[in-house]
Amino acid sequence: MLEKGVDFPPDPGSYVLALIAVEPFRLRAGALGERLLDAGVYLYVGSAFGPGGLRARLSRHWSGAQRLRWHVDYLRRQTHPVAAWYQPQAQPMEHVWARVLGAGRGIAPAWPGFGASDCRCATHLFYASELPSPGAFRARLGRAGCDTGGLRARGTAK
Ligand SMILES: [Zn+2]
Repeated sequence: MLEKGVDFPPDPGSYVLALIAVEPFRLRAGALGERLLDAGVYLYVGSAFGPGGLRARLSRHWSGAQRLRWHVDYLRRQTHPVAAWYQPQAQPMEHVWARVLGAGRGIAPAWPGFGASDCRCATHLFYASELPSPGAFRARLGRAGCDTGGLRARGTAK
């Protein structure tokens, strides 16, 4: 589990949030409907370009939003956050990151359209039976031509 009081930078940027489900669960996610999901690790790709940047968004995910706005808010209610990988950026890279994650070995799309209501990605939610290492993610981004200089990980060992 992530330590209490962990802080994220207030800058805009993109992130991957890792959420753990210890047993299979049924999730209703707004207009997407309902699905039975496996126990395991869920990787949600997002970006934070609003007020408060990554700090505001990741803190919201960590504590769990009271008002359900995004698909991930529903998922968060039934899972526990264990890690976040994030990178302050001038341009949102979440859609590129979603494509890169989806091509990862041992990582599979979890739910078509999840978190992708306003973009053309197949999904922004992925499933892995075990938490991938941030180093593997960094390497994969690098091979896809992404700048990973500011990429940070919290919540798990490197
Ligand atoms: Zn997208």
